[in-house]
Amino acid sequence: METTTLKKIWLSSPHMGHNEENYVKEAFETNWIAPLGPNVQLFEESISEFIGNEVNAACLSSGTAAIHLALELLGVGNGDEVLCQSFTFSASANPITYLGATPIFVDSEEDTWNISPELLEVAILDRIKLGKTPKAIVAVHLYGMPYKAQEIQDISKKYNIPVVEDSAEALGSIYKGIKCGSFGDFGILSFNGNKIITTSGGGALLSKDKEAKEKAIFLATQARDNAPHYQHSTVGYNYRMSNVLAGIGRGQMEVLEDRVLARRKNFEYYKNHLSDVSGIQFLDEPKGCLSNRWLTCILTQSFEDRERIRLALLEENIESRPLWKPMHLQPVFQENPSYVNGVSEHLFDKGLCLPSGSNLDEDDLERICNIIKNELK
Ligand SMILES: *Cc1c(COP(=O)(O)O)cnc(C)c1O
Repeated sequence: METTTLKKIWLSSPHMGHNEENYVKEAFETNWIAPLGPNVQLFEESISEFIGNEVNAACLSSGTAAIHLALELLGVGNGDEVLCQSFTFSASANPITYLGATPIFVDSEEDTWNISPELLEVAILDRIKLGKTPKAIVAVHLYGMPYKAQEIQDISKKYNIPVVEDSAEALGSIYKGIKCGSFGDFGILSFNGNKIITTSGGGALLSKDKEAKEKAIFLATQARDNAPHYQHSTVGYNYRMSNVLAGIGRGQMEVLEDRVLARRKNFEYYKNHLSDVSGIQFLDEPKGCLSNRWLTCILTQSFEDRERIRLALLEENIESRPLWKPMHLQPVFQENPSYVNGVSEHLFDKGLCLPSGSNLDEDDLERICNIIKNELK
């Protein structure tokens, strides 16, 4: 090997399109350097149009803020319990605690790696038996793979418990012909730097209910009553998206479809080149589901194989990452009740996210696959 530093390959890095800078420039030229302005409105309209299904979008400072507001608008408060997919990023669960409520974790199913409908129902019945009906369900389309939206909606209706649909990783994913983000009572998106499109940081709250969108914006802009002076009847937040960043978002929406195709192509490349390699497995799409393949994940035969691959990639300046550590195993949530079946622990033990940016080229993918093949030879 040469001693020159090898080209760094990131897990998922920002990928700008053509017009982002123009829209940001517009914000400067018109002096809309504020958490409101034309870019915010146009970005929201392009999101609503893309998702369809009569969804309204409110752009916010982060996906975490969107989950927080969704839960607040559903009336989650002090002492409540909220069911939450255990196999996820901590931002799905943290906002539950901001409201003084307790996350109750539910494990995943093998078909989608997302919340198990069977276990969810077991958890609901048990919580009711223990005296408390959960206030909401946070379900996640992890790595872009849609969760079983029909089954989860049926359970939600049956027990009258609303759903917050965490689509932070699933913009562009489709379940039975409908885009992810519009299934829950509220949906949320993230535009963090590593997501499928980015505004450097940002998020959106999605809802079919126009009034709920207005309420979210009211809360996100310090909950100011209608008065000439500053008057407040309720506690607000500073959660609105900046018009400068919304300019980046507008440009990113123009290339979103290409980004989904590129990420799906990465997945196909990995699958074609690694499927025959010593027991590496991929998660296929269940019938009727299309994943944006935000990150390509592999399952190895053992924790040792997983670590060997991760460290070999690191040695060559390539970033990869174990699958999410389930929330019920996190020190911060170890006292929380949880309903587990071993699925997420197995995934965490043997799973690895491979570099998946839409800006990777075939040389990058070949380099990665060769290292993996070499390790498992
Ligand atoms: C990124 C992410 C979030 C949070 O989004 P931010 O914009 O980073 O606050 C929430 N849930 C999941 C599953 C995520 O991956």
